[in-house]
Amino acid sequence: MKNFGLNLWANKNFIIEDGEIKLNYKSMPSLLNITKKIRENDVKGPILLRFPHLINKQIQTLYNYFEKAIQENAYQGKFNAVFPLKVNQFPAVVDAISRQGQKYNYGLEAGSKAELIIAMSKTPHNANITVNGFKDEEMLTLSFIAAQSGHNITVTIEGLNELETIISVASKHNLKVPNIGIRVRLHSAGSGNWAKSGGMDAKFGLTSTEIIEAISLLKNANLLEKLTMIHFHIGSQMADIAPIKKALREAGNIYAELKKMGAVSLSSINIGGGLAVEYEQHTKSDTRNYSIEEFSSSVVFLLGEIMDAKDVTHPDIFTESGRFVVASHSVLITPVLELFSQDYQEQLLNFKENNPPLIEELIELNRLLNNANCIEYLHDALDHMESLFTLFDLGYIDLQDRSNAEILVHNIIKKALYLKSSNPTNELEALQTKLQERYLINASIFQSLPDYWGLGQHFPVMPIHHLNITPLRAASLWDITCDSDGEIGFNPEKPLYLHDVNLDEEDYFLGFFNVGAYQETLGMNHNLFTHPNEYTIIINDTDYEISNAVESKNILQILESIGYDGNNIVTKLNSELENSEFIAEKEKSDTLAILKKLLSQNGYLRTTN
Ligand SMILES: *Cc1c(COP(=O)(O)O)cnc(C)c1O
Repeated sequence: MKNFGLNLWANKNFIIEDGEIKLNYKSMPSLLNITKKIRENDVKGPILLRFPHLINKQIQTLYNYFEKAIQENAYQGKFNAVFPLKVNQFPAVVDAISRQGQKYNYGLEAGSKAELIIAMSKTPHNANITVNGFKDEEMLTLSFIAAQSGHNITVTIEGLNELETIISVASKHNLKVPNIGIRVRLHSAGSGNWAKSGGMDAKFGLTSTEIIEAISLLKNANLLEKLTMIHFHIGSQMADIAPIKKALREAGNIYAELKKMGAVSLSSINIGGGLAVEYEQHTKSDTRNYSIEEFSSSVVFLLGEIMDAKDVTHPDIFTESGRFVVASHSVLITPVLELFSQDYQEQLLNFKENNPPLIEELIELNRLLNNANCIEYLHDALDHMESLFTLFDLGYIDLQDRSNAEILVHNIIKKALYLKSSNPTNELEALQTKLQERYLINASIFQSLPDYWGLGQHFPVMPIHHLNITPLRAASLWDITCDSDGEIGFNPEKPLYLHDVNLDEEDYFLGFFNVGAYQETLGMNHNLFTHPNEYTIIINDTDYEISNAVESKNILQILESIGYDGNNIVTKLNSELENSEFIAEKEKSDTLAILKKLLSQNGYLRTTN
């Protein structure tokens, strides 16, 4: 039975049981059960499920492994972490993080004014706030206000001009000066989709010369005791641990040098994010080459070694892992609306009283196909089809004959695939790829999987039920935007096989996993499809609870969000109907009601699914 690479990407968060995918936690509800329960209330279209227990698990894992490494290496510094808000700023996520983070003093990292406001309103005073990214005088003043309000805040400067602004704000206002960090520009660069943050041409960070200059500026302004941290971040989803180690050596030595230059309060190294998540479903694909255990012990060991060699006290370690903490917590569930080749269904066969002999033979092959004869019969069927196409071109058979031939051969191939599914021949595998089925999913890739669209990032995808049946259809997925990029094509290197289902008789749902990092605010309203309905699922020992439902924007709201005047639109549409001559008076109010309802729903399709 295919498990869709669950053993690779699921990190034991999900298991397959009774043909369904279930949460591997407490009462172990199945995703199908949760989905059905939500849809009982007339919810259609895609839904985003959040599982806060998976956020808790990641936070715990992060702290536990670093604590373990600190003990094993007799490391003297402490471990601290902050969650980088840009990875997911949605309130349900930040609330889950704050709640679980309390016992660890887990803090938040902000990269913009709006994120800093979230951090200030959600971080308790004993947890850390770090501020990165480009900052103007206002944003720096806001950091002073945070410090003044009692927050434990560190502002990382990305360039000397920011330091100059800090010095000027400090002299202008009588506010508490926040702690200052310096982002160092490392020679080491990462690799992979997201590694653009290191190296000589990096967007961020101070060069050695600038760092020396910064120290002297701080000394002159009497602010050197505010310098507490050095920071680096060499990119996200680092597949290889080697560049991370190289960056650590570089940053560790810079830290030690600065201590020697008299940076008295310097006490921590912030190693940024980059901790990778497993997205692959196929063993042949590239996966990350390290575990959280190796990562944490390498960081702790290397920093300890460098400091010991230079006779410097071990610094506290900060991480800003984001993807690692939240990627796994959400699952996107999309109904399948249509299988495009349903036109090949057996019930559409329409035989004549006298069929051409080759059609009669196909009927027999289809009827008598079994495990022993299937390869031979398959070859006969393919051969007959070629002949029938030739006969059609020459005008000897008609369109109905041709349609019957296509359906029969299609069926024979499908049966052969099924019979040989445990051990297909190369020929069958090639046929399977050729016989691709297109599954229309009620979702927008631009809105819900923008990292696939923009970067080709693969996300684990699988049906959430039918898992006791071997899926045989080579599948490509089409979304409902009118854009040819809204497609996840069949990739023979990373093949996706789905089930042959009759959607007139049953629903079919796909789940996209590990979608919780970055994508939600990156998601685009292409075709004006909005962020899907979302639900937070709290699982307890005997049951689960659906809480925090956030409905997606309705059609009127999405139009208003891009600047239309909603009232104006409603008035115009209503008055057009009111004044229409083509509609009977008594039907007008019904039609107005239909229109009103439609404007209050989101734009995803509501037909059948
Ligand atoms: C984006 C970012 C992070 C988070 O990186 P992940 O790979 O998601 O862990 C951490 N620190 C900084 C400075 C960032 O810009």
